[in-house]
Amino acid sequence: MLKSAVRAVALLSGGLDSTLAAMILKEKGIEVSGLAVITPFFSKERVEDIGSKLRSYYEVLKIPVKLVYVMEEYFPLIERSKYGFGRHLNPCIDCKILFLTLAKKYMEEIGAQFVITGDVLGQRSMSQSLKSMLLIEQEAGLSGKVVRPLSGLLLPPTEPELRGYVERRWLLGIEGKKRTFQIKLAEEMGIAEYPQPAGGCLLTVSDFSRKVRDLLENHELDLQQIELLKIGRHFRVHGVKLVVGKNEHENKSLEEAWRGFGYLLLPVNVKGATGLVLSIEKIQKEDLEIHLKIVGRYCDSKSGILFRILAPDGESNEVLLVDAFKPFESDRYMV
Ligand code: SF4
Repeated sequence: MLKSAVRAVALLSGGLDSTLAAMILKEKGIEVSGLAVITPFFSKERVEDIGSKLRSYYEVLKIPVKLVYVMEEYFPLIERSKYGFGRHLNPCIDCKILFLTLAKKYMEEIGAQFVITGDVLGQRSMSQSLKSMLLIEQEAGLSGKVVRPLSGLLLPPTEPELRGYVERRWLLGIEGKKRTFQIKLAEEMGIAEYPQPAGGCLLTVSDFSRKVRDLLENHELDLQQIELLKIGRHFRVHGVKLVVGKNEHENKSLEEAWRGFGYLLLPVNVKGATGLVLSIEKIQKEDLEIHLKIVGRYCDSKSGILFRILAPDGESNEVLLVDAFKPFESDRYMV
């Protein structure tokens, strides 16, 4: 018999697996509180999803969700990952340790007995092998206290099972990357609409990881720089960073980001991209023309472009650019 008020914290990524894992135990009478962690390296879309859509989604499922934003505290994970990276700059094992550590803290705060995750054995080779899963929970100080309902039958019995909070027969034995079983299970559980597989961690994206590496190499890793990595084209001219907007919306975002730091490069007499020169304390005066030539490449006219240059203090200056770079000339500065 289930004792009263057994409580658990479910780590929710917004994907189907973690939703199912939480629902399996909720349906058995466990009081489930959700925790969603957001890192600076999530895409804008995913942050928006977690902040609004997912919250209301879990409201329907009657799972309250607490959001935790991890900011600069995440940086050490990519500056000196203890357990290494996946294919790109994704430190999945360190990251999952951090997420579980936060879940443990929340578990203790609300007096819950254990943590639920949507892990599926063997779904991700790096972080979802048996060895990795046990290491992750041990490093988070949660040895034996993490229940993984989707693969629980394939894993050693956990403390909540031994204490009788969770019955082993409630657990499933799903293994591997295929999602057909989870989709069928969602249908059976009446979860007609569910979030798409999580995704959205930009550290798993090759281009984005390359740009983060560039920030690391230039000792420029900070929250503002990371936000800027999510928009525009990125260049580095003799150590100085330039971001060029790809469309009207990004041009506006660069203008907003400019206030207080950097040079803003605005074409005046032709339509075209906006440029934002960062780390200007390193800039050589003669290099400014290179920045203008790069931005000029993304303007409607490639010659005779009048640029307004706005300094951080708002001081403005106009410069006529005779010729923009050709693609092969600007591409060599691309990050
Ligand atoms: S994919 Fe990103 S968010 Fe997910 S565990 Fe890996 S580093 Fe963390």
